[in-house]
Amino acid sequence: MKRTVVAGNRRIEYTLIQSSRQNVLFQALPEAGLRVYAPKYLRLRDVDEMVRQRADQLLEMQRQTEARLDADRRAHPVTDGSPILIEGKHCILRLRRGPRRSGRLVGEEYQLTLPNPDSDPDVRAAIRSTLSTVALKRIRERLDYFAPRLGVTPGRVAIREQKSRWGSCSRKGNLNFNWKLIMAPPQALDYVVVHELCHLHEFNHSPRFWALVEAQMPDYEVWKKWLKTHTDDMYL
Ligand SMILES: [Zn+2]
Repeated sequence: MKRTVVAGNRRIEYTLIQSSRQNVLFQALPEAGLRVYAPKYLRLRDVDEMVRQRADQLLEMQRQTEARLDADRRAHPVTDGSPILIEGKHCILRLRRGPRRSGRLVGEEYQLTLPNPDSDPDVRAAIRSTLSTVALKRIRERLDYFAPRLGVTPGRVAIREQKSRWGSCSRKGNLNFNWKLIMAPPQALDYVVVHELCHLHEFNHSPRFWALVEAQMPDYEVWKKWLKTHTDDMYL
């Protein structure tokens, strides 16, 4: 729920997310703005008042998040000829103008067509959407390969924009994956697929869980580490 609070001469807009949680959490997200997670029983005007009282702190949080995002974008431009990592290979981004958004990998080039290739946010959104499609296809293929080997059947499979996670598994057995896995080498994507599938047997990170992962992928630690150390290359 979108809310607006006026504090002195400043307007603060935020998204309120009510849940069964017991405490209030304030978060400044790049692009998504300010988020407030609050328990359902808190009255809206009480949440507004908490936001108003923290106006300085929240605006500063937002300013810092945006500054970080700006710096990241400057460090990782998406103009014609920019480097882009796809399936662990260093490719070159080629931008073309065209009515429909599409992307294809031709040799070492990722040829991206979109209506407005001059707009930085549009190019980023087009990369995200076209590569998400490729990611989902590849992840499904790898799930189909590993699931029978593990004797499991995953539930719903989806690609999510996850800031800090490569994948997740819900109690119901639904799996979510980060679209950026398509930038990583295929073995790193495999590791995340195997990891989430193993959670269908062991909903924890116990030694038994890791033994299952290792049985499918003896060198999984290499790829687990790869994902930890290369997040910066996969910035977008
Ligand atoms: Zn896990």
